[in-house]
Amino acid sequence: MDALPAFDLLRPTTLDEAIRIRVAHPGSMPLGGGTDLVVNIRRGIVAPAMLIDMNAVSELKTIRADARGLEIGASVKLAELAGHPDVVKHYPVVAQAAGFIAGPTHRNMGTVGGNLCLDTRCIYYNQSEWWRSANNHCLKTTGDICHVAPKSRGVCFATFSGDLAPALLTLGAEVDLVGPTGRRTLPLSKLYIGHARQGEPVTETRGDGKYFLSLRPGEFVGAVRAKNMPELRSAYDKIRIRRSIEYPVAGVAVALRREGNTLADLRVAFTGTNPRPVLLEGTAALCGGALDERVFKGLDDLVRDQIMAMKTTFTPGHYRRRVAGVLARRLVTRLFTD
Ligand SMILES: Cc1cc2nc3c(=O)[nH]c(=O)nc-3n(C[C@H](O)[C@H](O)[C@H](O)COP(=O)(O)OP(=O)(O)OC[C@H]3O[C@@H](n4cnc5c(N)ncnc54)[C@H](O)[C@@H]3O)c2cc1C
Ligand code: SF4
Repeated sequence: MDALPAFDLLRPTTLDEAIRIRVAHPGSMPLGGGTDLVVNIRRGIVAPAMLIDMNAVSELKTIRADARGLEIGASVKLAELAGHPDVVKHYPVVAQAAGFIAGPTHRNMGTVGGNLCLDTRCIYYNQSEWWRSANNHCLKTTGDICHVAPKSRGVCFATFSGDLAPALLTLGAEVDLVGPTGRRTLPLSKLYIGHARQGEPVTETRGDGKYFLSLRPGEFVGAVRAKNMPELRSAYDKIRIRRSIEYPVAGVAVALRREGNTLADLRVAFTGTNPRPVLLEGTAALCGGALDERVFKGLDDLVRDQIMAMKTTFTPGHYRRRVAGVLARRLVTRLFTD
């Protein structure tokens, strides 16, 4: 196993202090629980000279959840989120997604900010330094070719695998960002720019598996917020190779509203498939009638068009896309009939 290189660690107690440190140390990175970042440092994938531990910043450690809305600070631990009684009651999709992340020890350490900003994954990237160098690296680090799609013309297809983002996307969540130029709020969907652009430059709204977040230099995630829609039924499910502890082969969040026998609202979001979490576009057209074969066929078509799983994991892309579609069908059926 590779040794952990030396780095400095600072522990600010306020956001302003965290921002000041970040501005003074452009090579620094924010540290949540370190359950992904420290692994990547050990593997030589990233080498920050300084880590800014966000866990003592008190304004980032609160959960506010009631029948009106949800606000979760970036330094909230996943275990706390998964077990919070008002999150379980009013926002089950969020509590379930948090409870499905990794294993219990990771959830005790891992944070909401770290999960939302989780690096994208690929079998050619999440490897030791010697493995990657023996394979001439790849575009996401210092190489000049994508091993998954050698004709990708500079595009990386590494997969976003965080479980929380799709759950929050089905609730229309917003994210608060804090940085040297002030605070701003974005729809959560706009934080993720991994569109696998082809032949286009990277911009603040369009990136790929390498440039997958729209964070500006020095910006942190401060909190994520959603309004409650009491009539919305929601849930999360995922398939993983080891049920006890594993990234998603595919993860699906569903939120829907039923009026009598009519499907009145439907939101479906995926993770583990594309370089961003995908909130399916076009589900509104499936609403307005019974939950029948027309809806399932329409759902399958949307999954086929928008879910673009590549061979970035040991499970083949076409299998992950099938799994995503099947999970979505099952969850929609369960929520509609419950
Ligand atoms: C065996 C194993 C299994 C796993 N399974 C899953 C899984 O099933 N699902 C899943 O989603 N994840 C999984 N993970 C990954 C990881 O444990 C979780 O995603 C966890 O939530 C990451 O949070 P963290 O606080 O530990 O992030 P860290 O590792 O601390 O940070 C992750 C990234 O986020 C950045 N960051 C941290 N806080 C902020 C902030 N406030 N603003 C901006 N950027 C920030 C860091 O700089 C870093 O780039 C797994 C990890 C392991 C080792
Ligand atoms: S998708 Fe291609 S460029 Fe991206 S990490 Fe994998 S091999 Fe590297």
